[in-house]
Amino acid sequence: MGMILLNPGPANTTMGVKLAQIVDDICPREIEFGQIMQDVSSGLLKFVQGSSKARAVLFGGSGTLAIESCLSSVVGSEDKIVIIVNGAYGKRMFDIAKAHEKNVIAFESDFLSPIDFMQLKVFLESQKPQFVGVVHSETTSGLLNDLKQLSFICKPLGIKIISDCMSSFACYPLNLNEIDYIVASSNKNLQGMAGVSFVVANVDNLKKASHSRSVYLDLKAQDEYFTRTQQMRFTPPVQILYALKKAIEELCIETLEGRYLRYKKNNSILRKGLLGLGLEIFPKESFGVIITAIKMPKDIDFKTLHDTCKKQGYTIYPGKIEGLEMFRIANIGEIYPYHIEGFLNILRQFLQNLVGENA
Ligand SMILES: *Cc1c(COP(=O)(O)O)cnc(C)c1O
Repeated sequence: MGMILLNPGPANTTMGVKLAQIVDDICPREIEFGQIMQDVSSGLLKFVQGSSKARAVLFGGSGTLAIESCLSSVVGSEDKIVIIVNGAYGKRMFDIAKAHEKNVIAFESDFLSPIDFMQLKVFLESQKPQFVGVVHSETTSGLLNDLKQLSFICKPLGIKIISDCMSSFACYPLNLNEIDYIVASSNKNLQGMAGVSFVVANVDNLKKASHSRSVYLDLKAQDEYFTRTQQMRFTPPVQILYALKKAIEELCIETLEGRYLRYKKNNSILRKGLLGLGLEIFPKESFGVIITAIKMPKDIDFKTLHDTCKKQGYTIYPGKIEGLEMFRIANIGEIYPYHIEGFLNILRQFLQNLVGENA
C-alpha cells in the first residue's frame, strides 16, 4: 500500500475501487452508463433511513458543489435560513448562502463544545426561519452535532433541516425523518474517488428546490432531468462513477454498522494512544469517530511533524481553528487499527527523539 491517508478525505480506497475505474471508453449518454448512474443513485439510498420516497441527485464536483446546489436551490427569496456555525464548514455554508443572497442568519456556537440546544430553540423561536443549515460531523474539530436533538426542536416549529453530512454519510445512520436534505460526497466514508457529490431528499422536497439562480447548480432540474433520461445534464465524471458503484457494493458487504464499528475502533485506539503520549485532544465531549484535533506539542511546528510522518508513509493534516496550534488525524477510509498503531509508534518515536535532543 502507498501512503496511509490520515487526512479527512479523499480517503484510502481499496484496490477493487481503484481498478473499477479501468473500463472501456463509453459515451455517458448511452443506456448502459445510465444504468451505472441509476445503480449509484439508488445504492446511496441504502445508507439512509426513511428513504422510500427519496432520491439521490448526483453532480460531478466536490462536496461543496452539492452544498451550494442545495442551499441555492432550496431556500427561496421569501425564506429565511439560520445556519449553525460551530466550525469552518458551518462558516462555509453561511458564506455560500450569503453569496447567493439568501436571507441568512448565523447561530454561532463554540467550535469545541456541544450546541446549547435550549439557546438554539429560543433563537429559532424568535427568528422563525423556514430552514436550518447544520454540519453533522464538523471536520474542523471532530465535533458531532446532534441531528436528533436538532430535529426534535425544528419539527414542531415547521423548520426544515439541510445538513452537510460530508463526513458522516456512510458511517452514521442518517434519517430523512430527522433531516430533510442530506448532502455528501464520494470520497470520504464511502471510500470512493473524489469527483461526485450528491443531495438525498424526499421527492416532495426535491420538487420545491427550484430557487437557484445558477443553471449548473439547479437541484430540481438536475433531479428531473436524471429521472426522465437517466443522464446528468452535463458531462458526468465517468470513471469516478464506476468506482463509486464499486465502493457502494463494498460498503453493502461491510455494512454501515461494520464500517461505523471499524472507524470507531480506529478512533478509540487513536484517542487512547494520543492521551497515553501525554497529548491534549479535542473535542473533549460530543466527538464522533471520524477525526480528532490534537494540540501541537510545545515547540513543534506542523511541517516538521508532517514531513517526519510522510517519510514513514503517513499523511497527517493541519489544524483549522484560528488561534489554536493543532494538527488533525482522521481515521476513515480503507485503514485498520494496525495502521493507527503504526502511526502512534511513529509519533511516540518522534516525541522521544525530541526529549533526547532537549536533554
Ligand atoms: C470534506 C468536507 C466538505 C466538502 O469539501 P470538498 O473539498 O468540496 O469536497 C464539506 N463539509 C465537510 C464537513 C467536509 O468534511
